[in-house]
Amino acid sequence: MQLSSLLDRFAEPETLKMAKLGRELRAQGIDVIDLSLGEPDFDTPAHVKEAAIKAIQDNWSHYTPVPGFLDLREAVVTKLKRDNNLSYEPTQIVASTGAKQSLANAILAITDDNDEVIIPTPYWVTYSELVKFARGKVVEVRTSPESGFKISAEQLKAAITPKTKAFLFSSPCNPSGAVYSKEELTALAEVFRQHPDIFIISDEIYEYINYVGEHQSIAQFDDLKDRVIIVNGLSKGFAMTGWRLGYTASNTTVAKAMEKIQGQTTSGTCSITQRAAIAALTGDLQPSKDMAAEFTRRKKRVLELVGEIPGLSCSEPEGAFYIFPDVHAFYGKSDGQVTIKDSADFSMYLLNTAHVSSVMGAAFGEPDCVRFSFANSIENIEKGWARIKDALAKLK
Ligand code: PMP
Repeated sequence: MQLSSLLDRFAEPETLKMAKLGRELRAQGIDVIDLSLGEPDFDTPAHVKEAAIKAIQDNWSHYTPVPGFLDLREAVVTKLKRDNNLSYEPTQIVASTGAKQSLANAILAITDDNDEVIIPTPYWVTYSELVKFARGKVVEVRTSPESGFKISAEQLKAAITPKTKAFLFSSPCNPSGAVYSKEELTALAEVFRQHPDIFIISDEIYEYINYVGEHQSIAQFDDLKDRVIIVNGLSKGFAMTGWRLGYTASNTTVAKAMEKIQGQTTSGTCSITQRAAIAALTGDLQPSKDMAAEFTRRKKRVLELVGEIPGLSCSEPEGAFYIFPDVHAFYGKSDGQVTIKDSADFSMYLLNTAHVSSVMGAAFGEPDCVRFSFANSIENIEKGWARIKDALAKLK
C-alpha cells in the first residue's frame, strides 16, 4: 500500500501527541495532570450556548454559505471595528472551522513551491507544517528570551530575500506569551514598507488573553492593511475550542481565493456554531474578561512556583496561557535510570515520573524550552508543579 508523499512532508502536532500519551497513562488509572493542552478550562458563556440551542430549535440545519452567513461576517466586521478600530466589509471575511483552518486557507492561498515564509521562533507547531504542506520553504528566525522572544526589525530585514512570500506570526504568541507593542509593530511595519510584495499573516487568536494592555494588530497601519491576513476565532477568547469557528480578514482577492479552497474542502462551518458565534462576537464580553482575570491570577501563581525550582528560568508571559522555561540546565543530569539529553527527554521524564504532561520546545522551533500551560485549575497547577519540583530534585 503506497500512501501519498504529502504525508512525509509534515509532522503530527506534538501538542496532540503529548495529550494522547497523557490520556493513555490516564487510561491505566494514573492521575496525570495535563499541562500540555492549549485550551481554556472554562465553559462557553451562557448567552452563547442559548443562541446555539435556539438555532437548533429554529432549524438552522442546512448547508451554509462557504465563507459563512452574511450576518456572521457582519458580526466579525462589527467586532473588528469595536475591538481593533479596523474597517472591513463582509466580503473580506471568511469564516472557517477554526483558526487552524483559516491559517491553512491563508497559507495555501498565497504559497507556491519554494516560496519562503518567515516565521520567528518560537511559533505555534502548525505554522511550519502548513507551509511544508503547501510546498513552501520555512525560514525560521531565532529570537531569544533577552528580546522577549520577539523578532527585531533588523532580524526581519536580514531574513527577507527575493523569494520571501509571507511573514507569519502570532501576538500574543503561543508558546512564548510575547505580545508585540505598537512601537514594536511600527518598527516591523517600516521594514515591510520597503518590501511591498510580502504578505503578513497575523494570528490574533489570543487577543483577549493579554496581560500588558491593549491588543495591537499589524493591520492598523493603513498602508500595510491590504496585505495583512488577520487570523482570529472564538476558541480561546470565548472558551469555544470544540465549536470550531475561526475567521480571516483580508483583501477581497485573498478572501475569494480562500473561499475557493474552502469550497472544495470543508464548505461552510457548522450552522449552529455560526449562530452562536454571532451572539459571542456582538454580545457581552464580561465572561471573556472574567476568564482573562483568572488567567492573570494563575500566571502569578505559576511564576511563584517556577521561581522555587533551581535551574528553571522563565520570562513572564505578556499574553496567552503558557510559560516557556529554558530547561538546558538539566541536560546531562540523571535520576539513575534516565539521562536528560534534550527538552524532549525532559518532557517525557516529567510525564513518566511526575505524571505531568508538557510539550517539548523543539515542536515550536526552540529546542531548549518546554511549554507548560496554565489553563488548568489553581489546585491542579499547584499539584502539578509540586510533582515537577520533586521529580527535578531527583536529577543529579
Ligand atoms: N493559532 C494559535 C497560536 C493557537 O494556539 C491555536 C490553538 N492552539 C490556533 C491557532 C488554532 O485555533 P482553533 O481552535 O481556532 O483552530
